[in-house]
Amino acid sequence: MKEKLAIEGGTPVLKRNDYKNWPVVNEETRFFVNETMESGIFAGGTAPQVTSLEKEWAEYLGVKHCLTTCSGTAALHMALSAIGAGPGDEIITSAFTFLASASCAIHQNAIPVFVDIDKRTYNMDPAKLEAAITERTKAIIPVHIQGLPADMDPILEIAKKHNLFVIEDACQAHGATYKGRKVGTIGHIAAFSLNNFKNLSGGEGGFFVTNDETLLRKGSLIRCFGDEVDEVSHRRKYNASILGYMYRNQELPAAFTRGQLKHLDEYNDTRISNAGYLTERIGKIPGVVPPYRPDDCKHVYFMYNVRFNPEEAGVKCTPREFRTAVEKALYMEGVLVGQWQTMPVPAQDIFQSKLGYGGSSYPWSVNESRGIRYDYNVDNYPVARDLCDNYTIVHGVHTPNGKDLMEKIASAFEKVFGDISTVMEHVDDNIFPGADGKLYGAA
Ligand SMILES: *Cc1c(COP(=O)(O)O)cnc(C)c1O
Repeated sequence: MKEKLAIEGGTPVLKRNDYKNWPVVNEETRFFVNETMESGIFAGGTAPQVTSLEKEWAEYLGVKHCLTTCSGTAALHMALSAIGAGPGDEIITSAFTFLASASCAIHQNAIPVFVDIDKRTYNMDPAKLEAAITERTKAIIPVHIQGLPADMDPILEIAKKHNLFVIEDACQAHGATYKGRKVGTIGHIAAFSLNNFKNLSGGEGGFFVTNDETLLRKGSLIRCFGDEVDEVSHRRKYNASILGYMYRNQELPAAFTRGQLKHLDEYNDTRISNAGYLTERIGKIPGVVPPYRPDDCKHVYFMYNVRFNPEEAGVKCTPREFRTAVEKALYMEGVLVGQWQTMPVPAQDIFQSKLGYGGSSYPWSVNESRGIRYDYNVDNYPVARDLCDNYTIVHGVHTPNGKDLMEKIASAFEKVFGDISTVMEHVDDNIFPGADGKLYGAA
């Protein structure tokens, strides 16, 4: 006899406390945080923890320069400012990403343009990139989505041909590699996030990295009000030469990050083995599509993305209905699942209304007043649109969760798919799967 599904009142496969929290407070993290507390130094662009962290991250990646920032979003904005993007410029990014990959363009008074994604990698589809380029394009921002590197070679080739900057949004892919090269070392500048959930966590924070001396100089001015610094005394002159912001990190998050960095590769290895185990088991279930990884890439599984296919599961309904029903049944079994982005970024209200600064149509108006149209119709991004119908995120692949938890998650999948017609009867139930606030702190 089939085991009764939790959604029908049966016993859930998992309990909430089967899941362990992220990030892990390890010994080194405590050490560096304590060291900071004892030092009495908590701030400053050249203070000891931020300076050490910048050096350690540059070494880890094998890049020349790194600046810590208060967020990944700030690092992206600094990057666009450093390359001189401005009103009327277009910045190309992926349609399936976090808002910040696109809003950084608006923050720089430029206009985001989106490219649809590849069906298997969910990264920007290089085959669709060239069609998005105009004489106004200034930069391309490929995003290494969910821990998988974007296909950089064709992107770089196209960028070179059109004389464009490439800024890697590496906020989700610390330690991932593309053809043996670490992401964040491939474009002109890269941005990393250190927010709580990311593979390398500082609570909050970010990195701006580059091999280019000029871009570094600009980045460091922009990070601190555009304020010139005396080369000999290293004192601020309180004389801003360019428009800047206050995007510095702080000593405590930097100290925290340093402790995390000591274990980044090991933590990534756990994600990889947990993901491998899940893929091995749930990948065998008809209708379950585990994440894809090209052979020449190291995927670091910031998120473990699963898609559902009703037809392959032998169910007649829309992909959205099927995904919703399966999410509910899994959630009731105790599996933490739920969507991250629920729509392609261009489908968000701000792009539909094109209302920016002060509720005006600026910055789009710069070009629209000259007859250039920006069409953010979601049907222009059919692959991203379809993905948002039928994917969910299976949470918990991070350390210290291990095989025990993965076994239970896989068993819950098998249980749910073993009784799929019952699952479909509950498609309209009032259950809202999503990341558990306490465990994952969905803001
Ligand atoms: C997290 C993230 C950001 C922004 O990072 P914050 O540190 O939260 O500002 C930017 N882009 C992507 C793809 C992200 O996942």
